[in-house]
Amino acid sequence: MDVIVVGAGPAGLMLAHELALGGAEVVVVERLTERVEQTKGGAIQPRTAELLDARGLLDPIMERVHARPVIGGHFAGLPVELDCTPWNTRNPYPIGIPQWRIEEVLEEAATARGARVLRGHEVTAVAQDANGVTVSAGTEFRAKYLVACDGAHSTVRKLLDLPFPGRSGTFKAVLVDVRLSSVSDLVPKAAGHMSALTREVENHWGMLVPIGGDKYRFTFGKLDEPETPETDDAVRQALVALYGETTTLAEVLTRSRFGDSTRQLEQYRHGRVLFAGDAAHVHSPLGGQGLNLGVQDAINLGWKLAATVAGWAPEGLLDSYHAERHPKAARVLHHTSAQRVLATPKPSEDVRALREIFTDLLSLPDTNRTIAGMMSGLDDETRVQDFDLVTADGPTRPAELLRSGRGVLVDLTGSVRLPEEWVDRVDLVHGKASQDFDAILLRPDGAVCWRGEGPLEPALRATFG
Ligand SMILES: Cc1cc2nc3c(=O)[nH]c(=O)nc-3n(C[C@H](O)[C@H](O)[C@H](O)COP(=O)(O)OP(=O)(O)OC[C@H]3O[C@@H](n4cnc5c(N)ncnc54)[C@H](O)[C@@H]3O)c2cc1C
Repeated sequence: MDVIVVGAGPAGLMLAHELALGGAEVVVVERLTERVEQTKGGAIQPRTAELLDARGLLDPIMERVHARPVIGGHFAGLPVELDCTPWNTRNPYPIGIPQWRIEEVLEEAATARGARVLRGHEVTAVAQDANGVTVSAGTEFRAKYLVACDGAHSTVRKLLDLPFPGRSGTFKAVLVDVRLSSVSDLVPKAAGHMSALTREVENHWGMLVPIGGDKYRFTFGKLDEPETPETDDAVRQALVALYGETTTLAEVLTRSRFGDSTRQLEQYRHGRVLFAGDAAHVHSPLGGQGLNLGVQDAINLGWKLAATVAGWAPEGLLDSYHAERHPKAARVLHHTSAQRVLATPKPSEDVRALREIFTDLLSLPDTNRTIAGMMSGLDDETRVQDFDLVTADGPTRPAELLRSGRGVLVDLTGSVRLPEEWVDRVDLVHGKASQDFDAILLRPDGAVCWRGEGPLEPALRATFG
């Protein structure tokens, strides 16, 4: 076995897909016997959509989106839509879809590529030595590497006794999927911009989002209650307080609680054990970032770890995972902290003043573009926007060319040659497109590692060994 992935959440399943695509033998061990059909993370950000497209996974996700409102994202729930159109992307709006549906697509894709997902296996012990990692999870598993994708309360993190520095949460709120037997006029009829969905009445705050038929995702908390219980009674009380007597609960389908603690591992790699997703970083869910970060961690790590076990990874490639991804999550921790201040329920006069100033700033095109780039992930410096390319075999685009999971060298001049040494890891594609470069080298995860400036070979060697 090459890699054991712990946890079949979005990060673990995406990673399993990437490892299998890269030719690694991978098993995912998951403690739950079946997937919980809970909405939880409800939005795919535009940069993640681009990356999923580069794996052919965006189409099956879009097929599962029941109604797709074209609504921009938000910053701190302020009443200004973030506009990603200046970033030239094919999907400039967050895609609303329940998290379990995304997991369903990722699991199907990972297993189709040969990854095994073993449910009902809870990891209880981990030991690593010079050659590999042994895991107890009902039975014993051994592999060359282990990646912990086991979520915010990561067992692997605790078993390795790793510090998880940061700040504790200030509240524990409730997230339930419910069925409602009747609804008042206050209940939204369709998903909408966050600013139009949130409500505050006396000490209650919350948000009902329709997810199809009589089903809703209900997030709520109480200001005078740092730990809101997730009982049916608490759900009923919050529904009535926020949406009136005529909004009645039929059934609680799934229930969980969440907080706003802000923490990040100092190192994502500990010998042969690596961390991705919520196991590596947690923060307030404001702005819909966590699932996206985890999926992007997995896409960054997958090909590097597959290259390492296959033996062709250049020196330092695996460690570049921490170097590249740690700052991305640190940035999200930073801006979700700022959002937490602005979005606090029952704001003070000072916070209200801050909100007004931020709302005005977000209405300016330049500021909106900057914050939209940050929240969507489109301001990633390694990103090249997808473009139409005309080749001898017909029209295509980089996102399609990347689906092989190999590097892609796109040449717009017709004169670039790919040295023999790399033909098994990189595809050379000649074509015509109107771009501000003559040639571009993309890593398997779509990141640009050469823009046609300077010699090609050092770039190939640094990335592809
Ligand atoms: C209210 C709310 C709204 C959110 N909205 C968004 C959003 O719109 N967009 C967004 O990007 N993010 C959102 N998030 C965040 C998102 O849900 C998480 O960041 C995401 O689930 C993290 O994925 P993960 O794969 O890292 O971990 P998880 O989804 O937590 O998966 C971890 C898996 O590991 C398994 N596991 C745990 N311990 C063990 C063990 N010992 N052995 C074996 N298996 C184990 C668990 O059962 C689980 O299946 C939201 C979160 C909340 C609470």
